[in-house]
Amino acid sequence: MSIPENIVLPAYFLFFSFALGCIVGSFLNVVVWRLPRGASLCHPPSHCPNCGHFIRPWENIPILSWLFLRGRCSSCHQAISWRYPAGEAAVGLLFAGIFWHVLRVDLPLAVLPAYFWLAGSVLAAALIDAEHRIIPNQITYSGMLAAFLLAILLPQGRLALYPEAAFAANNLIFQATMETLASCKLLQNGLKYAPVAAAMDCLLGIALSSGILALFGWAGKRILRQKQGDIQVIGGGDVKFLAMIGGFLGADAMIYILLGGAFLGFFSGIMQLLWEKNTKKLFSSLPFAPFLAIPALAWLLFGNWLYLIWNLFL
Ligand SMILES: [Zn+2]
Repeated sequence: MSIPENIVLPAYFLFFSFALGCIVGSFLNVVVWRLPRGASLCHPPSHCPNCGHFIRPWENIPILSWLFLRGRCSSCHQAISWRYPAGEAAVGLLFAGIFWHVLRVDLPLAVLPAYFWLAGSVLAAALIDAEHRIIPNQITYSGMLAAFLLAILLPQGRLALYPEAAFAANNLIFQATMETLASCKLLQNGLKYAPVAAAMDCLLGIALSSGILALFGWAGKRILRQKQGDIQVIGGGDVKFLAMIGGFLGADAMIYILLGGAFLGFFSGIMQLLWEKNTKKLFSSLPFAPFLAIPALAWLLFGNWLYLIWNLFL
C-alpha cells in the first residue's frame, strides 16, 4: 500500500512542529528554573548541577541526548531527572497538536508563529506561577511585544480580520469597535491596511483584558477588604498575563478564555473552601495563571471550545 501523496507534506510539517516544540521545551526547562530565581537565561551556559560539567551541543539535543546518555551526566554519571525529556516531549506534542488543529480547520499558516509563541509563554508562566506565585514580566512583556510585531508582519494570522477563517462569533467586539472607529474619516482610511487593522486587533485585546481584570481586581479588593483586611485577589502579574493572551488572540477569544479561567478558578476555589476555612489564606494561595492557561491552550488546540461544547448538547 502506498502512502497517499496529500498526507506526506502534513506529516512532514507535523514532525517539524513536534521537533520545534521539543527545542522550545528544552528552552522552557531553563526558563522555568532560572527566571523566578533571578538568574540570567544564557549565562552561565547549561551545566551539570552536580559536577559543573558544561553541556556540550551533542548532549543538548532534546529527548535524544537524554536517551543516549541513559539519563546520566556524561562526566560524573549523576542521574538527570526524567522530567527534562518528559517536558520536552510534552511541548513537542503540544506544538504538533496546535499544528494539527490549524490543518484540520484550515486556518492560515500565518497563525502558527503567534500560536507557538503564546503556547510556550502560557506554559512557562503557568508553571512558574503554580510554584512561586509570580508571573515574570519578562514573559508577559516580551509576549505582548511579540504579539504586536507579529500582527504587523503577519496580519493574515489575525483571525478577527478574516471572519470566514474562524467562527463568526470570534470577532464581534473587534467588528463593533472597528465600526465605531470608522466614523472617523482618518481612521477609516488607515484601517483599510491589513497591518494597521491587525495592530488595532492586538491593542484592543491588550487594552480590554487589562481593563476588565483591573476592574475585577479593584472590585474584589473592595468587597473582601471589609471582611478580611487587605487582600490582593488579582495581582498585576495576572493582569499582564491575560493582556498577553488578548494581544495574541484578540479581544473576543480573550473573553472566552477569561470565562473559562474564571469558571475553573471558581470551581477549584469551592473545592479548596471545603478544606481551607480561612478565605484570606485561600485567595492569596490560588495562582490564577494556570486557570487561564488551560482555556488558552484549549483555544489553540481546539478553537472556540465553548462553541464546540455548546454544539455537543444541541
Ligand atoms: Zn555531572
